[in-house]
Amino acid sequence: VFAAEAIKAQALALGFNTVGITRAAPSARLQAYRAWVGAGQHGEMGYMARPDRQSRRADLNMILPGVQSIIMVGLDYHALNVPTTVLNDPARGRIAAYAWGVDYHDVMLPRLEALAAWVAASGGGDVHTRVYVDTGAILERSHAQTAGLGFIGKNTMLIAPRGGSYFFLGELLTDAPCDVYDTPHRETMCGSCSQCQGACPTAAFPSPYVLDARRCISYLTIEYKGTIPHDLRARMGNWVYGCDVCQDVCPFNRFALPSPLFDVAIAQAAPAITDLLTLDTWSFTARFMGTPIARIGRDRLVRNACIAAGNSGLRELAGRLETLLDDPSPLVRGHSAWACGQLGVSHDRLRQTLNKETNTDVIEEIRAALGA
Ligand code: SF4
Ligand code: SF4
Repeated sequence: VFAAEAIKAQALALGFNTVGITRAAPSARLQAYRAWVGAGQHGEMGYMARPDRQSRRADLNMILPGVQSIIMVGLDYHALNVPTTVLNDPARGRIAAYAWGVDYHDVMLPRLEALAAWVAASGGGDVHTRVYVDTGAILERSHAQTAGLGFIGKNTMLIAPRGGSYFFLGELLTDAPCDVYDTPHRETMCGSCSQCQGACPTAAFPSPYVLDARRCISYLTIEYKGTIPHDLRARMGNWVYGCDVCQDVCPFNRFALPSPLFDVAIAQAAPAITDLLTLDTWSFTARFMGTPIARIGRDRLVRNACIAAGNSGLRELAGRLETLLDDPSPLVRGHSAWACGQLGVSHDRLRQTLNKETNTDVIEEIRAALGA
């Protein structure tokens, strides 16, 4: 039996900002998760719905046989040193705060692995562990709530009443029991507040505590690989990677403290759209390697930047967009055509492109832009 206090002290010594320990019991939110998947609200995130992963979420023993305890850790990431006027500048593409700096997996995983090694060593070799940062088929926000870290808000984020929601979560599962477990946090503290629901640019909350990922800018800009639905593009504003609106408006984030994790330059938080539109595969890799943005690849980021350009109202971006009408990626060509339409690029130029285009999706985009 482990002393919970000793594990927590070790987690804090490793640099985590918060830690709680809960019994490895099935989440009370399994039904809500199944309903969410059943309604298709996970969009194209097939890994959320795979039967084997659903089973793992329901029975933690499938992840680690004999699992007894889940140690939930949090690492703050909020960096407050970028002025809102910069973030909202239409000439800049805005990036969600969690991705302003180094890839959090690279920070969290070594620390969790060090904690796991410490737990295993303290158990004399007879203790098994498993660590996850995002990759586990586990309802981590729910387990974080039972570990006392915070409550799940109407915006579906885990919120610490005194620290807000700008922190990463990770977990360590072990088959060792602990002497004391944390008291679950209150279910919710949202009360009559509904600011996140009203502020969401794409109306992605069909009801409080339920997020329809298919409408969420975070999903559309990061997870979704295809053509962004036309009716959502204008609502995406200047977001090019993720979205923080439903966290920014949350009153609990008034208490968020600057994190020492990132020392952020403005270009990391809100790069100039013209720079994003100029990226090729090489310059994308050189610029974003080691950040979470690297995983979406150049084409998807440029697709997103085209939408931000189309929403900017800045005619000076039209030249760059016109160049992208000849891009090797049909995804980029299609979205640049839309943006050209938004910025009033000459129909002659779009017709020239239409005459030589062979991809049916891009042809449709150009026709729509000509119609617009
Ligand atoms: S991240 Fe943005 S788009 Fe997604 S639910 Fe929150 S406010 Fe809406
Ligand atoms: S904005 Fe209000 S309703 Fe939304 S999560 Fe925060 S406290 Fe809850």
